[in-house]
Amino acid sequence: MKCKICGESANIKLDYCGLKLCKPHFIEYIQKRVKRTIKRYQMVRKEDTIAVALSGGKDSQALLHILKQIYVDSNKLIGIHIDLGINDYSQESAKFVRILCDELEVPVHVINIKEEYNFTIDNAKKSKKIRRPICGICGLVKRYVLNVFARKYKADVLATGHVMDDEVSVLLSNLVNGNFEQLIRGGPFLPSDDVSMVARIKPLYEISELETTLYSHFNNIPFIEITCPYDVKATVSSYKQVTNKLEEMQPGSRYLLLRNYIKIYKKALKDYNTEIQQELCYCKVCGGPTIRDICAFCSLRKKMEGNE
Ligand code: SF4
Ligand SMILES: [Zn+2]
Ligand SMILES: [Zn+2]
Repeated sequence: MKCKICGESANIKLDYCGLKLCKPHFIEYIQKRVKRTIKRYQMVRKEDTIAVALSGGKDSQALLHILKQIYVDSNKLIGIHIDLGINDYSQESAKFVRILCDELEVPVHVINIKEEYNFTIDNAKKSKKIRRPICGICGLVKRYVLNVFARKYKADVLATGHVMDDEVSVLLSNLVNGNFEQLIRGGPFLPSDDVSMVARIKPLYEISELETTLYSHFNNIPFIEITCPYDVKATVSSYKQVTNKLEEMQPGSRYLLLRNYIKIYKKALKDYNTEIQQELCYCKVCGGPTIRDICAFCSLRKKMEGNE
């Protein structure tokens, strides 16, 4: 098997396009595709500062590495990592984030939620006052804290490491469950609706998990390999299994599904959007954007008071 670009021995064959590539050309190919995604969806303006949400996992670590290659001469990148207070897992995650940021010379801010908000995800998991699944709570905390600190550090956009596999399975789940609001708001670029919200981008939207794994290995990118103790992935994984099977039977179908969702279906749903749009107001406690009097994060914080 020979590399299509240089004719040397190839390390990988991409089933969805039949391309055979050696290590250096695969790395170059992934960086070019991410660059194309950023351009295609107009995610970043020339003057923007990008905050990268770093969990310590392979996808966000690969994302930072790729962005650093794309924006090689600029100092427009900053890393943000949230210490969620999940026992050893959080300590390990922070370790890998710091190693990579040091290596790439990217400034990183580690936000400890215990210090900032006086509770941890471990506390929330144990609390009898919290009924929602812990990953839902954790997602809420991450969204809120990332937005607050991306603004604090003057970022224009917040980049997350969501890859194609996750995006397709979430899309299928939203279709099956009729989650119209999520279908309308989904996609690789969520512009800011208000000055209090930082725009969100997903530069790995068209890159698969397998590709980020290979990219990480080929570049010796350090990442945490243990999973979070609360990781159950029950519902999403069934959708992921289906979309993986579809990809296996029809290579390239996941990419097509995402492209058609953005190009055709999302546009068609726009009319519906105007009907369901709720007026944005500001949280009475933190001043952040919400559709209620008190935002979901401040309600959670209130419940967690006294829950050490
Ligand atoms: S698995 Fe759940 S609790 Fe653990 S980090 Fe992910 S979202 Fe948070
Ligand atoms: Zn080559
Ligand atoms: Zn609030």
